[in-house]
Amino acid sequence: MASGSSGNAMLVRVGEKSLLIDAGLSAQTLVSRTKKFSVPPDSIGGILLTHEHHDHSVGAGVLARRMRIPVLANSETLQALSTRDELDFPAQEIPTGTPLSFGAITVQSFPIPHNAVAPVGFTLTIGECKIAYATDIGSRTPELATALSNASLIILEANHDLHWLLHGSYSDEMKARVASPIGHLSNADCAEALAHRLEDGTPCTIWLAHLSRMNNTPALAKRTILDRLGKHHKTPYTLEVALRDHPSLSWKYGQQAHQLDLLSHF
Ligand SMILES: [Zn+2]
Ligand SMILES: [Zn+2]
Repeated sequence: MASGSSGNAMLVRVGEKSLLIDAGLSAQTLVSRTKKFSVPPDSIGGILLTHEHHDHSVGAGVLARRMRIPVLANSETLQALSTRDELDFPAQEIPTGTPLSFGAITVQSFPIPHNAVAPVGFTLTIGECKIAYATDIGSRTPELATALSNASLIILEANHDLHWLLHGSYSDEMKARVASPIGHLSNADCAEALAHRLEDGTPCTIWLAHLSRMNNTPALAKRTILDRLGKHHKTPYTLEVALRDHPSLSWKYGQQAHQLDLLSHF
């Protein structure tokens, strides 16, 4: 539903139940975008959070209170949120690495290196379908490689082109923070992670996510990754870019991604 430093949210629907991953838009925007996917907002049973940064969590407390659904996150993230958001909200703690059953979905978190209290990525497994979601990652880790392996849908950060970042308009402090091992993943590092993943031979759909507005473009990210992977890898894959400010992609298990940005009703 959105991807980048202005807000992140993804909706997962299995049967009649839905789950939000991150809620970095206002509660009102989250509800209206959910309706535009023809998903009833009251089907959302929980809000999974990767970390407490504003662009991932700003709507979580309000939506959880309004809809009486839990925010699902590790205790460190819940603590960080509750100190910022004075009103109570329903919450369920998921220790990092402990699987959680949510209807037909098995959710598993894994630690990621990022400048937040206890940030995580997620894998969601539904029968044979595995989805891996990992943004805001300063560097590649063995846990990330495990999460990506055999995933049918991969949502992976391609934040910046390192050259653009280093020669762009950010302050030196900001450049150092983004490029650090606990900052954000560059196009080149994203390409390396994906090249490693494709070695396992399982076909997949890849969504590049959390692109920087200043230090990247969808075309540049896509080109860098295609140059590294090759357009015709021995493992079949499709590559799309999740856009920053409006719903841009949808995917059904067994089908390819659809780019939604031409649909005028968004
Ligand atoms: Zn972020
Ligand atoms: Zn972050």
